[in-house]
Amino acid sequence: MAPITIYRALDFLIEQGLVHRLASRNTYIASSSTSSGRGTTAFLICDGCGDVNEVTSPDVADTVLKVLQERGYQPRTKILEITGRCAHCQDVH
Ligand SMILES: [Zn+2]
Repeated sequence: MAPITIYRALDFLIEQGLVHRLASRNTYIASSSTSSGRGTTAFLICDGCGDVNEVTSPDVADTVLKVLQERGYQPRTKILEITGRCAHCQDVH
């Protein structure tokens, strides 16, 4: 496939919520959740091993949505990227 075609396919998958772009890693990751529309997804990214954990929580989603509505903000993406150390990497050091 030509690069332009790949990017169009990526855009489509991102719109559908099947793929997320992690800005802090400049990478793409397939979503394992079935987050549709208003869901908010948090990615826990480990600086140590590079592991990425996907977390979806209705509480987080509700809180983010409330803040967005208060500000009259129209979100394009609703992804939280949290970087740090996973439980395993904390044990190592
Ligand atoms: Zn780790």
